[in-house]
Amino acid sequence: MTISVLGGGQLGRMMALAAYRLGERVVLLDPNPESCGGHVAPLVVGRWQDPAPLAELSRRGDIVTFEFENVPDEAARFLADRVAVAPPPQALTTAQDRLLEKQLFTELGIPTPPYRPASSLAELRTAAAEVGLPAVVKTRRFGYDGKGQHVVRSADDVDAAWLALGAAELLIESFVPFDQEVSAIAARAHNGEVARYPLVENSHRGGILRTSRPLSATDPLAPQAAEYIDKVLGHLDYVGVLTLEFFVVGGQLLVNEMAPRVHNSGHYSIDGAETSQFENHVRAILDLPLGSTETMLHCVMLNCIGGMPSNAALCALPGTKIHAYGKRGSPGRKVGHVTVVASTAAELQARLPAVQALVDAASDG
Ligand code: AMP
Repeated sequence: MTISVLGGGQLGRMMALAAYRLGERVVLLDPNPESCGGHVAPLVVGRWQDPAPLAELSRRGDIVTFEFENVPDEAARFLADRVAVAPPPQALTTAQDRLLEKQLFTELGIPTPPYRPASSLAELRTAAAEVGLPAVVKTRRFGYDGKGQHVVRSADDVDAAWLALGAAELLIESFVPFDQEVSAIAARAHNGEVARYPLVENSHRGGILRTSRPLSATDPLAPQAAEYIDKVLGHLDYVGVLTLEFFVVGGQLLVNEMAPRVHNSGHYSIDGAETSQFENHVRAILDLPLGSTETMLHCVMLNCIGGMPSNAALCALPGTKIHAYGKRGSPGRKVGHVTVVASTAAELQARLPAVQALVDAASDG
């Protein structure tokens, strides 16, 4: 089979590597001819808006999927008229707009911070008064890695947020003094079977994910997370991997957002889980039985932002699984990740500081 992927970045690259192990083929579409997925799989260079490259993808692929949620949903719908597409284009439409996303969570009874949409300064001021300060103003569309966000603590901040972001449709939500951030990742098959990964604890700096560590499968928050992700998967009749990002406050989950795709916080699963999120995504969309999501090794994933330590330095340390994406370093850019693995928790703790120091020295922020 050939899988056509909308997007040719590192997620497409790692998806292709997982597909090749199963003997499947992949073709990627991305407007950037330098896309790092193109180092490992055939890359069609073209704009999402152009019918010609989309038609080529539909001709070459038995099924279409995506690795990037800001692909225009019209592109996914254009393809869905010609070839099987998974996950469903509606998941893309919902995830692209923070308001639709929040409305879906509310409809499904999944707690989310109080929010209001705003498309004028007057509306933003009223919305700020309604949700209360401090709050976070976010663009409804095209925000990622903390971009398109402004924390507001005073009425003056509200006006400043409007100046900074008001060219776009906005959403304001309560600032959450969270204890922890976690994500839930699950794959759903065509027959409705769901394979859930353990919750992953995430830490961010400068709005960008820095580290992810899988929690125990018996974490007290796991049943709550399972109920919520199952609701979203079932509602969308989803096929493939879906991610929900949560704030943890006082032992309760508040959903922040969803990603209709494999997720950075699931990269640990390549080296640490019995079946990686990439392989389970491929299995799900190709209608193959899903694999076990069990964590096999103690592990922590460290993101390399802006720059990557040298292979010489990393290879000298035990338990380092290097994933360099072959991208040029620039500020804020995800250029790779390193997963530190060990057979015991104590060994992992002993290995981590040296790798963390190398990653910190090479990364920015
Ligand atoms: P997002 O783009 O919504 O994933 O936000 C990126 C990061 O900003 C999150 O992972 C949080 O660390 C922080 N953040 C976003 N929204 C809020 C909020 N309402 N309250 C507190 N922190 C937030």
